[in-house]
Amino acid sequence: MAGHDPWSGALFGWADQPSWYDRLSSWLAPYLGRGAQRRLTKTPAEHLYLDDLGWLARLDDVLTEPVEAVTAALAADLASATLRVFHGSRVANAGVFHRDGLRRRDRAALGDDIRDMLDRNPEFNWERASIEERLDRAVAEKRDASRSYLGLDGRFLVEECGHYLLYGSEWMQGVLGWSAQAMLLRTGVPTLIEIGLPLQLAEHGGTNAVADRLLHEWSRQQVARDGRSPLIDCTLTLDQDIAGEAILSHSHPRRIFDPLHHVWRSNAYADCPACKPKAPAETGDDGESDH
Ligand SMILES: [Zn+2]
Repeated sequence: MAGHDPWSGALFGWADQPSWYDRLSSWLAPYLGRGAQRRLTKTPAEHLYLDDLGWLARLDDVLTEPVEAVTAALAADLASATLRVFHGSRVANAGVFHRDGLRRRDRAALGDDIRDMLDRNPEFNWERASIEERLDRAVAEKRDASRSYLGLDGRFLVEECGHYLLYGSEWMQGVLGWSAQAMLLRTGVPTLIEIGLPLQLAEHGGTNAVADRLLHEWSRQQVARDGRSPLIDCTLTLDQDIAGEAILSHSHPRRIFDPLHHVWRSNAYADCPACKPKAPAETGDDGESDH
């Protein structure tokens, strides 16, 4: 609404509820009908799960406009804010992100990485011809060639969808095939990159999804008041590069869930050359790595 933009200049993150909850309460106030918050609080909701669509339906009941219109208005105003998002990767040195930012996937460059990897791992010579064939085909395809994928919830990338951290680019995994997994687990360091994404850069559908999630959780909090931020699977796509200044931090989670094999894997790599100096970390986890 005009003159009412608590999102301007804000930096917020899904799992950091204090960074957005009061802001959203304030933003939402003009859309709430008389006694709305009391009605939300008083109406029983024992049957609703964390991700139940019923939470938005409850909110819809007390808004002065349809929840779809309010979601769209919120998405438009969120464009003036910066959202903490995450990207999972396996790289030798996360410094490349701090220096160069997050570049869109360049398949030819990824293909060069694959050939370098094969050069260093002669045990794959027997399969090299078929990998090269798959690589040539994949480089020729243009599908998804210019998008980055960013997760709203970093925990989801570690605890549910860890194959990006464990094996690296999904596209490279597809080209190399199942038998290369052990090699990928020895190459580079599992890395979670945290990015401050100015939402004006995100595609509209993505911002709308963020608005939808925030309203859903705000409605749930009226009843639950548990301060929790449920683990969610929400991905934004971006069709442009992100500058190095937008990279907020990176980390190397010690335990990562491998959805390809349904096991938790210990990450023996506690740091990379770009990590800030710190006390020596304990090593010796039973990871797949022989580092
Ligand atoms: Zn590092």
